[in-house]
Amino acid sequence: MEYKKNDVYSLTITDANMDGDGVGKLDGFPIFVKDTVIGDVAEVKLIKVKKNYGYGRLMKLIQPSKNRVEPRCDVARQCGGCQLQFYSYQEQLRFKENKVKNHLERIGKVTGYQFHPIIGMEEPFHYRNKAQFPIGRNKDGRVIAGFYAGRTHSIIEYKDCVLGSKENKLILEIILKFMEEYQVTPYQETTHTGLVRHVLIRQGYHTGEIMVCMVINGTMLPHAKELVKRLQVLEHITSIMVNCNQEKTNVILGKELITLWGNDFITDFIGDICFRISPLSFFQVNPIQTEQLYQKALQYANLSGKEMVWDLYCGIGTISLFLAQKAKKVYGVEIVEQAIENAKENAKRNQIENVEFFTGKAEEVFPAWYRQNREQADVVVLDPPRKGCEEVLLQTIAEMKVERIVYISCDSATLARDVRILDGMGYRLLEVTPVDMFAQTVHVETVVLIQRK
Ligand code: SAH
Repeated sequence: MEYKKNDVYSLTITDANMDGDGVGKLDGFPIFVKDTVIGDVAEVKLIKVKKNYGYGRLMKLIQPSKNRVEPRCDVARQCGGCQLQFYSYQEQLRFKENKVKNHLERIGKVTGYQFHPIIGMEEPFHYRNKAQFPIGRNKDGRVIAGFYAGRTHSIIEYKDCVLGSKENKLILEIILKFMEEYQVTPYQETTHTGLVRHVLIRQGYHTGEIMVCMVINGTMLPHAKELVKRLQVLEHITSIMVNCNQEKTNVILGKELITLWGNDFITDFIGDICFRISPLSFFQVNPIQTEQLYQKALQYANLSGKEMVWDLYCGIGTISLFLAQKAKKVYGVEIVEQAIENAKENAKRNQIENVEFFTGKAEEVFPAWYRQNREQADVVVLDPPRKGCEEVLLQTIAEMKVERIVYISCDSATLARDVRILDGMGYRLLEVTPVDMFAQTVHVETVVLIQRK
């Protein structure tokens, strides 16, 4: 049968793709439909038809799935942040388990490992300790804060995100009012003019400390004293900063930082360890699940106190310090200099002495160190960004004859690719535990144990 654009069909959604979009079949011909979930029966209009599949738009739900819930947020469908808010939480978890399994099977081509149920959250909202709001103008010229609409850079006005801290709204209102009163302009991406690009807010989960950082297309914020005066009276604010980013780029933060008031960091705890976090340093965004994740990593590392451990992509040394309490020595490697400064400071402040940190690319520092020192390691922890690890790094692990690899991944596709490469180098995937660090979104964190054959 020929399917044509604008045809309308009733479709039962039987599957989901990796982006969380529903998939249904018309006589075997797959149709992808955004905003649908497995079990929906929907009226769908075809918007694009390709040779082997098509795309449809949800027109009307004929019979909603039992896996569907009412989104908590008013702009859930437009906003690019939460792709799965209309999925029940149970269904979100199932989706994520399937995603990880699928990647390991299709890309990793591995079998025979133990797959543990995903570690979910009790309350999967308001978990984020960091928010970055783009600033712009609405149609009437008013200064607004919000989020980018899915796959675009147009700003949807919204200050009350259900993933973020409840304090964000008040902070944004103060900043927007200040900008209107003092005619501080918002940045305009298309013309690369205007000043305020983003507002970054970070909050310590255990300490409550809040950092507000104004990201500007310039080198100074006019009337900064007035803004400080208005913000510093809020409870918990311990740091007010400016970050300068004058590049034409999607990257939110620039390199230069100015402290307007208070500290140039916030502190928070993971377990008993206290961490200093600077604006440019990576810190896991979901503090509740981070503890779960690190506990699993610690369990997989299976340390007795005698081990030499490398923590590659170590950020501010969170995992390094966590593991150092149970290892002989831990080396950490991280590319962001400021994060390493935090890491060293964090080690000192927590009186942990058996750690050493290096600034640089893991794929350069780690192989070079091994060539020079020829010292074995027992356990390597890998926690790379989405693109995964470079092959030369994995090669060095194999040459070192490292016994155990604990791989923490925020992209199961590149994890699966690296598992496959390691398999070819004599390493076997033993255990897999997904952790839901990013509830309401399609993203999933996974921690795995890989052992030398
Ligand atoms: N393990 C840390 C950080 C993980 S996020 C934690 O749990 O908090 C990944 C980190 O890798 C980021 O801090 C990022 O700055 C760093 N990074 C990115 N590319 C890198 C590279 N090529 N070499 C070393 N570190 C890198």
